[in-house]
Amino acid sequence: MIDGLPELEDLGPLAGKSVLVRTDFNVPLKDGRITDDLRIRAALPTLQWLVGQGARVTACSHLGRPKGPDDASASMAPVRERLAQLAPEVTLLENLRFDKGEEGNDPAFTARLIEGHDCYVNDAFGASHRAHASIVGPPRFLPSAAGRLLAREAEVLLGLRKNPRRPFVAIMGGAKVSDKLGVIEALLQVVDSIVVGGGMAFTFLAAQGHRVGSSLLEADMIDTCRRLLEGPKTIHLPEDITALGPGGKLFDPAAGGEVRQIGADVPDGWMGVDIGPGTAAVFTDVILDAGTVLWNGPMGVFEDPRFEAGTRAVATAVAETRAFTVVGGGDSAAAAKQFGVDGDVDHVSTGGGASLELIEQGDLPGLAALRDSARRG
Ligand code: AMP
Repeated sequence: MIDGLPELEDLGPLAGKSVLVRTDFNVPLKDGRITDDLRIRAALPTLQWLVGQGARVTACSHLGRPKGPDDASASMAPVRERLAQLAPEVTLLENLRFDKGEEGNDPAFTARLIEGHDCYVNDAFGASHRAHASIVGPPRFLPSAAGRLLAREAEVLLGLRKNPRRPFVAIMGGAKVSDKLGVIEALLQVVDSIVVGGGMAFTFLAAQGHRVGSSLLEADMIDTCRRLLEGPKTIHLPEDITALGPGGKLFDPAAGGEVRQIGADVPDGWMGVDIGPGTAAVFTDVILDAGTVLWNGPMGVFEDPRFEAGTRAVATAVAETRAFTVVGGGDSAAAAKQFGVDGDVDHVSTGGGASLELIEQGDLPGLAALRDSARRG
C-alpha cells in the first residue's frame, strides 16, 4: 500500500480467482499494424504476476476513438495477436469504447464489465485521469488494486511533489503554453527553477518585451506569463534562438529559406523553431547541477533534423546528469527515444496527459477510486 493506494499483494490469495485488469493498450497503429508495442509490454509485469498467482486474467482497454461498435479500424485484433505472443494466458476484451457506456461512465456498462470477476486491477495509468466506467466503476464493487505500472507512476510522480532531491528543475517545452500553464503554476510551488523552451517560450519572451516575428505566440497568455515571470522562482528563457527565414517551410528543406542563429528578438517574417546553441549550453548546465529533473516537451521542432539540436542537447544532459530524472510522456518520451537516451532516464512516464494532471492536481480519478475501494475494505 503506497499512501492508501492498494497494491496487488493487498488482494490476498488469487488462485482460481478471475481478475479483470484495465490496461492501456491504446497503441499507435498504421495500416492496422502496431508501430510501437511499448504499452503492451509495460503491462506484462502485472499480467504475468497475476498469472503466476494462479488467477484467470482478463484484460480490457480502449483503442483510439472508434466511431461505433462496427468500426473495424479500432478493433482490438492487432493487440490481441501481439498479446497472445507475450502473455498467451491472458484473455482480451473488445475495445471498451465500442460501448458508449465506457466514456459515459454508465453503471449498466460497469455491471456488464465486472460480471463473473472476483477482483479488479487498474494498470492503465495513461487513462486514469478520465472518470470512465472501466476506470472508476469496478472499484465500487470488487476488491481492487493498482497494478505495477500504475503504482510506480503514482509513487514517482507524487514523490516529485512531496520530497524531491534539490535543486529540482522542470524543463518545459512543446507547442502551446495554454496547455501546460496549470502544470507550470503547480510546478512553481515545488521546483527551484523552470527552464522553458519550444514554441511556448515565445509567449514568455513576448511578455519580457521581445519581438517574436512569426513564431508561435498565444497573445492572450502574455499577461499570465508576465505574472509568472514576476514571481519568486527563476524561469530560464532562451537567450538565443535558431530561426527559419521568410519562404522557409518546416519539414521541407527544399523549399529554401535561411536558417540562422539569432538573439532573443525574432525579426518580422522569421520563425523561432529551436533554442540556440548558447541557450542549449546554459540549459545543459542547469540540468547537470540539478538533484531532480522533470522534462516535458521538446525544445524545438525536433522532428525536422534542422531543428533537433536543442532537444538533443537537453536529452543528452538529462541522460548524463546525476539527478533523478523523469520524462513526462508524449513528445519528450519520443524525443528521448529518438536520441537514444531513454534507457538512461530514471522514469519515463507512459501517460502524457495523465502525468501532467497528476503533478498538477496531486490525484487522478482512477487513483481516488482505488483508495476509496481500499478504505471501504
Ligand atoms: P506538445 O504536444 O505541446 O508537447 O508540443 C510538441 C510539438 O511542439 C512538437 O511536435 C514540436 O515540433 C512542436 N514545437 C516545439 N517547438 C516549437 C516551435 N518553436 N515552434 C513550433 N512548434 C514547436
